[in-house]
Amino acid sequence: MNYNRYIDNRNKPLIDYIIKNKFCIKVIHSHKGTWTFHLKGSLIVIGVKQSKYPISCFTHELLHAEIQIRGYKKLKYGKSSLFPNADLVTIMDALDQELQHHKMFQRFIELGFPSNEFYHDNDIEVLSKLDKFLKNGHHDLLSVLLRYFTVIAPGGAIESERLDFYKEQLKTINNNAFRERLNVIDEIFIQWTKSESLDAESYIKNYFNNIGRPSKTWFGYGTPNEFPNNGFFVDEVFSL
Ligand SMILES: [Zn+2]
Repeated sequence: MNYNRYIDNRNKPLIDYIIKNKFCIKVIHSHKGTWTFHLKGSLIVIGVKQSKYPISCFTHELLHAEIQIRGYKKLKYGKSSLFPNADLVTIMDALDQELQHHKMFQRFIELGFPSNEFYHDNDIEVLSKLDKFLKNGHHDLLSVLLRYFTVIAPGGAIESERLDFYKEQLKTINNNAFRERLNVIDEIFIQWTKSESLDAESYIKNYFNNIGRPSKTWFGYGTPNEFPNNGFFVDEVFSL
């Protein structure tokens, strides 16, 4: 699919940067509920959806490409004594996305895009999910951490005052049981956003050590059989 319709002079520098670094962009129809991004070798695959602001959505995905070309290493694989594997993958993917989004959002604004178009059209739907969770949810640490990503996400159509309200609601759950940990998470993202570096390892370590310590936790950038070389330990060093 030709992607010219998704390009204007705001995101043209991104396309030029990607092409200059010898990456190819392939555009397909997304079969998921949202736009998608996938990078394999030098091929970038972007899944597109209907949108009121398709150029902004396309730019969001290009920014995932740019940050990874510039050196951000995506977390691909993890092991941890803190969570069963399926839960670990869920939280690892959410953290990885959020770390990228916090850096990408600054670029999105610099390129001249409006803050409220940073996510696909339906990002406002998360509020009803949060209401439902606060009312009926099972409020263990993992489920609160996952909801917390949605309220600290930068940009989007939801006003910051409303997000602050939900942030506070999540902090008061179970008589403030998770407040201190959530405050630490706020600080981790403030520092990460301020930093010039795209090396997220120390932030990821802080994030997981804040959840539970000691732990045997390791994240990899490649495949499971590259343990322990292509990745890093969060806390204790261990063998399999
Ligand atoms: Zn994204």
